[in-house]
Amino acid sequence: MTIALYPGSFDPVTNGHLDTAVRASRLFDTVVMAVFDRPNKNLLFSTTERLELLREVTRGIPRIRVEAYNTLTVQFARQIGARVIVRGLRAASDFENEFQMAQINQIIDPEIDVVVFMASRKYTFLSASTVREIAALGGDVSELVPPHIVGALKQKFER
Ligand code: ADP
Repeated sequence: MTIALYPGSFDPVTNGHLDTAVRASRLFDTVVMAVFDRPNKNLLFSTTERLELLREVTRGIPRIRVEAYNTLTVQFARQIGARVIVRGLRAASDFENEFQMAQINQIIDPEIDVVVFMASRKYTFLSASTVREIAALGGDVSELVPPHIVGALKQKFER
């Protein structure tokens, strides 16, 4: 059985993330979408919130599981028995970062491989940070994220 780990900040999860996860779930037996607890970014949602939102929007999608972690990604991959790390590539600008991370991860654990999915054409422009910016200014993000996330963003910015 091949388990793939799809790690990210998912702050919040977007339709682009879900597209990648579903595509990965057609290749691997289980895809574990894992919320990284301490990304080097300013977060809008807490780890608990990001985890709950991700659980809610992936409920009922076969072969996708959701977890959170606060260790090195490759360590977490080992812990859950994943030999594959899934990432998404939207544009050349993503490449350098993903390439660097993959190389470092390979040094730490050469038995774990990174599989990169090219973003679907519909989602190449889409990032969680764009979603946060639009929602913060009261814009409509209903084409970019699942309905449950639209509600969560509204609640967050109403406060
Ligand atoms: P973001 O870059 O949107 O803040 P994350 O840090 O959670 O999101 O990203 C996790 C992984 O998902 C990264 O490999 C990122 O390149 C990928 N990803 C993010 N948005 C998309 C998208 N629209 N289509 C495909 N992959 C994506």
